[in-house]
Amino acid sequence: MPLRSYKFRIRPNRAQSLALDAMLRDFCGLYNACLQQRIEAYERRRVSLRYSNQASELKACRTDDPDGLGRWSFSALQQVLRRVDQTYAAFFKRKRGFPRFRASARYHAATFRVGDGMTIKKDRRIGIVGIPGAIKVRWHRDMLKGAKLGTGILTRQNGKWFVVFSVEAGFAEACGTGDIGIDFGLNSLIATSDGETVEAPRFARKAQAAQRRRQRALARCKRGSKRRLKAKHRLAVGSAKIANQRRDFAHKLSRSLVNRYKRIAFEDLNLTGLKRGMLARSIHDAAWSQIVQFTQYKAESADTEVKMVDPRGTSQTCPMCGIIQAKTLKIRVHRCECGAVLDRDVAAGMIVKQRAFGPGHGLRTPSQRVAA
Ligand SMILES: [Zn+2]
Repeated sequence: MPLRSYKFRIRPNRAQSLALDAMLRDFCGLYNACLQQRIEAYERRRVSLRYSNQASELKACRTDDPDGLGRWSFSALQQVLRRVDQTYAAFFKRKRGFPRFRASARYHAATFRVGDGMTIKKDRRIGIVGIPGAIKVRWHRDMLKGAKLGTGILTRQNGKWFVVFSVEAGFAEACGTGDIGIDFGLNSLIATSDGETVEAPRFARKAQAAQRRRQRALARCKRGSKRRLKAKHRLAVGSAKIANQRRDFAHKLSRSLVNRYKRIAFEDLNLTGLKRGMLARSIHDAAWSQIVQFTQYKAESADTEVKMVDPRGTSQTCPMCGIIQAKTLKIRVHRCECGAVLDRDVAAGMIVKQRAFGPGHGLRTPSQRVAA
């Protein structure tokens, strides 16, 4: 079953946020202690500790420390041990580096099982074991009705608190009809085979200018100074805002695609390589992969098909007659001897659609001699 997550802002009062900070500090301490224990066990005795070894000691640790670890939810503490275990597992899979000790200023999340350590009260506030009272939540959207809540992850981001619920449920959403091919364009962010072009939102550029200004301000501050801390915070808040806006945009765009079409084809960005080895690519890159990713997961619950196609030569082929026509990046309009006159990116979108779903000339994989 697909898993979905819902993120909500929570507004702890002063006492509550102090308690939350203390909780994360304790969790971080436990994390580091577990890591230390594993390292020492290996160095001294050549023993590799497992989750179960450490979990069996947890109960005693809590009884010994009633004003510290003893205050917090048992299952949430277990999750901390699991986290250590996961970073180890990731290391042995050689995907990540060796687990590092964490600074408590950089330890920002705690995982709870909903109903155990974290509860949603009748007044729709959240109760957390060890935190006084119940915390206000900004329920800005409805979660799926009847869905079973799995975990609730509490996070601190630039001084704001959030909770992310993961929900497991079958989704039956209406999907659209018809097929569409989508080209990741240079002038426009995307162009579809239906002739629709979507511009890159302007906020990105504007916000980036402001970010550069904040970056320079930060660079001017003396190391270790209070001003520097503040400047750093402003920079982080700015980055978070840009990321939010971009995510919001990608959600809306992918939602509109899934609502309108039954089959959607994209260029496979992993294969694109240096196709557009230029600035435009780097600006759009993050936005593109997010759009693909969001469309894929939304399609999963709407019975929509998403297909990725080889992007090579999409902008060099005529969608009407299949002739390969080399164009430099400057040429914005596709003009062909067969009489086709199309926007360059729209023509590429049509090729993407033909390659994915056919029939049409785009089915032919262009030969390697075509410069991508
Ligand atoms: Zn043609």
